[in-house]
Amino acid sequence: MVARVIPVEAFELVVFGATGDLAHRKILPGLFRRFLAGQIPPEARIIGAARADLTDQAFRDSIAEAIAEYVPAKLRDPAVVADFLKHLEYIPIDAKGEGGWATLKEKLRPGLVHAFYFSVAPALFGDLAERLKLHGIAGPESRIVVEKPFGRDLATAKALNATLACHFEEGQIYRIDHYLGKETVQNLMAVRFANILFEPLWKAEYVDHVQITVAETVGVEGRGAYYDTSGAMRDMVQNHMMQLLCLIAMEPPYHFDPDAVRDEKLKVIRALDPVRPEDIVRGQYLPGLGEGGYREHAENPESKTESYIALRVHISNWRWKGTPFYLRTGKRLRARASEIAITFKEPPHSIFDDHSGWRENVLVIRLQPDEGMNLMVMIKEPGPGGMRLMQVPLDMSFADALGAELADAPDAYERLIMDVIRGNQTLFMRGDEVEAAWAWTDPIIQGWEARGDAPQAYDPGSSGPEDALMLMHRDGRRWREIR
Ligand code: NAP
Repeated sequence: MVARVIPVEAFELVVFGATGDLAHRKILPGLFRRFLAGQIPPEARIIGAARADLTDQAFRDSIAEAIAEYVPAKLRDPAVVADFLKHLEYIPIDAKGEGGWATLKEKLRPGLVHAFYFSVAPALFGDLAERLKLHGIAGPESRIVVEKPFGRDLATAKALNATLACHFEEGQIYRIDHYLGKETVQNLMAVRFANILFEPLWKAEYVDHVQITVAETVGVEGRGAYYDTSGAMRDMVQNHMMQLLCLIAMEPPYHFDPDAVRDEKLKVIRALDPVRPEDIVRGQYLPGLGEGGYREHAENPESKTESYIALRVHISNWRWKGTPFYLRTGKRLRARASEIAITFKEPPHSIFDDHSGWRENVLVIRLQPDEGMNLMVMIKEPGPGGMRLMQVPLDMSFADALGAELADAPDAYERLIMDVIRGNQTLFMRGDEVEAAWAWTDPIIQGWEARGDAPQAYDPGSSGPEDALMLMHRDGRRWREIR
């Protein structure tokens, strides 16, 4: 199979925050990989901007270092890197000041696609949006890209949406959730809506429950002070896990079209029931395995912020009434693993005398590591001795089927930036989606704050707090092993 690179129109991308961590780790290395794939047209320019007083050359040097650090050696042909760097320029701009904007305006050429990536703290989004308009730099065709966190509750998200809406139409605003750019997440839609096999079973009648797990081995060291103001619910559940939940639970959109897809996701969020306190478990990792605990990392000995959360969630609609969705995410857990597991119900009647080997069918969609899918099915245990059942995985590891093509597949940021240039908003969150997600999240957080709930301690390298196991045991179910 030959990977198809669909060229994009000539563009100028202005990256505000170009000296920051995200720009260096993801955005610029991602653009380099698209350049390598032949997707960046010769006229394209990437203009970095931040307060630091850099020359074009100093900026190029810093990006050369970032490429050396974050792009695998086999992809870093020095001649190709040098060609890529020729597309880069830099202008010192303070989002809150008036300097540099006139230079930016002069530099941008009419007739190209113009995108402005706000890779800066959300507190600066309004300043950037306002000055882009005030200085006549952004027009009705321009696009802006904004990063998470998009608010910390419904009120702040609404305020941010309102600020952006003063200067840009919704069709110009690209709110990034990089989970939506992952290959397997998009494959989830292909599997659901391009096969007849799964969709008829995709409902409460046949699905016992769904588990969504995002487990990390790292703690919050290095960004503890920020994380302590956020916690797992705001940092992971309200955005990334909510998006995964929507893609699993939504009705088939009439077309793979930005608003058709986002309309269906929004309906799911609106159908989420409030979560009862007994269906929430929050945790905080203890010191261990040679590292400090959460409270040391957060530099807050009294912290009640959760580094782990598990929730039992219900969707009140015809398709899902009665099927629980269990979500869990945490830091310093046993393994780095993200997956969605859809567990199907037992057949209505067993025709076999020995049913002891029977296990549920489970469709496992792995996001990381080893992207792929596994369908657990029952077969006859091989050999003589009568009819005994055993469970085997039908492994749909994309690495086996697609080989080099998958290895070369763009990472989430690359794909999403190219979608911005193409003007395709399907994989970006719409303003009303974000607000609906906060409207569901807010009372959950306010509830535990009002009750003064403290998170339960858990050991680093474990699967999370004991109470999270009980959340499942109570329902006669078990979490899948984190590995
Ligand atoms: P960072 O490392 O702190 O970088 C911030 C950037 O903003 C720097 O380039 C800084 O450069 C620039 N900046 C600060 N004040 C400015 C001003 N007044 N005017 C113009 N530029 C200014 O932050 P980051 O980690 O790259 O994160 C950027 C955004 O992405 C944040 O919204 C963050 O929440 C989000 N995000 C980051 C990650 C990640 O992995 N890093 C992941 C998801 C989301 P100067 O100081 O030179 O101005």
